Amino acid sequence: EFVPASRVTRIKSSPSVAAAARVRELKAEGRRILDLTVGEPDFDTPQHIKDAAVAAIGRGETKYTSVTGTPELQKAILQTLERKTGQQYTPAEITIGGGGKQVIFTAFMATLDQGDEVVIPAPYWVSYPDMVLANEGTPVIVSCGEDTGFKISPEALAGALTERTRWVILNTPSNPTGAVYSREELAGLAAVLQDHPSVYVLTDEIYDEIHFGEEPITSLVAVAPELKDRVLVTNGVSKAYAMTGWRLGYAGGPAPLVAAINKLQSQMSSCPSSVSQAAAAAALTSDQSFVRESLEVYRERRDTAVAGLNAVDGLHCWTPDGAFYAYVNCVGVIGKTAPDGRRITTDEDFTLYLLEAASVAVIQGSAYGLSPYFRISCSTGLPVIEESIAAIEKAVTALV
Ligand code: PLP
Repeated sequence: EFVPASRVTRIKSSPSVAAAARVRELKAEGRRILDLTVGEPDFDTPQHIKDAAVAAIGRGETKYTSVTGTPELQKAILQTLERKTGQQYTPAEITIGGGGKQVIFTAFMATLDQGDEVVIPAPYWVSYPDMVLANEGTPVIVSCGEDTGFKISPEALAGALTERTRWVILNTPSNPTGAVYSREELAGLAAVLQDHPSVYVLTDEIYDEIHFGEEPITSLVAVAPELKDRVLVTNGVSKAYAMTGWRLGYAGGPAPLVAAINKLQSQMSSCPSSVSQAAAAAALTSDQSFVRESLEVYRERRDTAVAGLNAVDGLHCWTPDGAFYAYVNCVGVIGKTAPDGRRITTDEDFTLYLLEAASVAVIQGSAYGLSPYFRISCSTGLPVIEESIAAIEKAVTALV
C-alpha cells in the first residue's frame, strides 16, 4: 500500500483545481456549464510575446540558464520592481521561478521550521495555508470581514503576532475579494511591523496590473522602504500578460533570503524554462497596451457582475477594486430550501445547488476561509457572465 509522506497528508489539493476538474467532468457528460471558477485570463498571450519565445528557440536559447535567470530577464525584473515599488533592487535581491506559486512555496521552504507561524488574513488565496502546512509551518488565520473591506487592520495584525511569527502574508489586489490596500492602510500595518523586527512580510502582488482605481496600486515597500530588508514582493507574468501556462514568476527581497530560495531552486528545478524567461522579458519590457486594454475589459465585466448580483434578492456583492474576481455574500439564502427539498445550510450547499439547478459553477467561500460567500471569476466573456447572473437569479428565486 502506498503511504505518502506526512507533508502530503497534511494538505489538500487546491479547491480551484478540484472545481475545474468537476466542471470538466460535467461537460464530458454533455452538460453545458457556465464556468465562473476559472482563475486565469481568458485572453490569448499577446502575439509579440509568443514571437519573442519563438525567436529565443530559433537562437538556441533552449538550455539551462543560471539558477538566477537570464541577464535579460533579470534586467527587466529589476526595472519592473523599481517601477512598482520606487525602490532599487540588485540582481542578488531577486529570484525567478516557475510561477509566483513556486516562488512563494520555495520562500516558505527556505524559512519555516516546525511550529513557525504565518499570519494569513482570510479570505485568502487557497494555496497559502497548505503551502505553509507542507513546509511544517503553522497557519494563523485572521478573519477579515466586510467591515474592514476584507483587509487586516493594524489592531488585528498586532493581535496575531507572537514570538513564533515568521511571516505575514498580504495579497493586494486580493484573490478572492479584489480588495486593495491603500497607502494609509499599508502605513498602519507598517507601523505595527516596526515593533516586530523579526517578522517578514510576503506581499503577493500578482494582480497589481488589474486595478480599477485611478492610481497604480501601492506596494508595502513603497510606503515603508525601511521594511525593504524583510519584505518579499512576489509577482509574475501569469495574470497581467495572460501567460499562466508559461510558468514564470519572480520576487524581490533581501539578499540572504533570496540566496536561500535560489539554493533550494538549484536542487529543485535548476532554473525556470529558458523559453519562458525570454517571453517574460519581452512581456515586461515591451509596449504595455495589452495590460491597459484587458483592464478595461475586466472593468466592464466587473461592473456588469456586481450590478447583476446586487439585484438578486438574498445576495450582496461588494465592488472589487482589483483582480478579476468578486466575493459574493450569500447569507440571505442560508436556511432556505431548494425545490427538491434540500436545505441550504452552508455556502458549499449553495454552490452545489447552483451547479445542479443553474448549471453555474462558482467556488464556495469556505475554500477561502470566510463564509457564507462564493467567489465568481470574471475571466470569462460578458455574455457568459450575463447568462450566469440570470441563471443564478432564477435559481435563487426558486428557493423558499
Ligand atoms: N497568488 C495568487 C493570489 C494567485 O491567485 C495566483 C494564481 O492563481 C498566484 C499567486 C500564482 O500565479 P502563478 O504561479 O501563475 O504566477
